[in-house]
Amino acid sequence: MSAHRIAYRKGLHEIAEGVHAWLAPDGGWGLSNAGLIEGAGSTLLVDTLFDLPMTREMLTAMASVTDRSPLRHAVNTHANGDHCYGNALLPAGTVIHAGPHFDDDLHEVPPALLAQLMTAELGPVLGPYLRRNFGAYTFADIPVRGAEETVTAPTTLEVGGRAVEVLPLGPAHTRGDVVVWVPDARTLFAGDLLFIGGTPMIWSGPVENWIAACDRMLALDPVTVVPGHGPVTGPDGIRQVRDYLTFLHGYAVSSIAAGRTWQEAAAVVDLGRYATWGETERTVANLYAAYRSLDPATEPITLLELLTAMAGWQRP
Ligand SMILES: [Zn+2]
Repeated sequence: MSAHRIAYRKGLHEIAEGVHAWLAPDGGWGLSNAGLIEGAGSTLLVDTLFDLPMTREMLTAMASVTDRSPLRHAVNTHANGDHCYGNALLPAGTVIHAGPHFDDDLHEVPPALLAQLMTAELGPVLGPYLRRNFGAYTFADIPVRGAEETVTAPTTLEVGGRAVEVLPLGPAHTRGDVVVWVPDARTLFAGDLLFIGGTPMIWSGPVENWIAACDRMLALDPVTVVPGHGPVTGPDGIRQVRDYLTFLHGYAVSSIAAGRTWQEAAAVVDLGRYATWGETERTVANLYAAYRSLDPATEPITLLELLTAMAGWQRP
């Protein structure tokens, strides 16, 4: 089955034999994809969603599979809430696996913090920006559930006789990114190491390590690739993201050489063909992250300061 034949429609799609993707157009802020892999009599879930109603809707749609093959494992590809805040709805016996620093990162930005930001007085720029991008979600009263197992090396999980590999490829998007590879279906769940149609977001970096992660994903020789956000793709989608990261890295290097701050670099950036992607304001945060790893003298800023810089960015 070719990746290009998978319609980008909200809901559960069987993308290979016993491999399902939950897709959430348009893939913007908080609209993340997830996955379900079925072996004989058991299943593995890739990621939960941003809030409990969304996760409940997805798990209900998945019941057509999980009623006969209950969830035994879940993998959180990283600690951003749109991939794990729904963990509380997983059956108690489900073993949750995630990469390094997962619980720390989750507790640093728990749902309660986002709930608080939605109602806080944050001024005329940041307040409306956050409400526009996150106001549709329900962050209040979400119990935080972390991971039981930390994946620090390539790990094979057995799912009803089927091998599913969890590969740590971070730090890149976050400090602890993992991807899920189903060798017998040549299907890859890339988490937020791939945004398709939207601008990738670099919370952590270094950018070079994310480029290396793209090479690792390409080396798997996947046929079908499910990004964290956007439509199902194939190796071309990995190459697109790799190209963007290479562009961003090169631009950061030349901007530093020209004596510009990251703010100045963001103010004059020519995104070229990436200007048509969604969420272009992430470029601001991406330049900050690139500068941080390239130039240790870059002054650290807080999460709120970073979001404010993104919210106030005027496309050159
Ligand atoms: Zn995401």
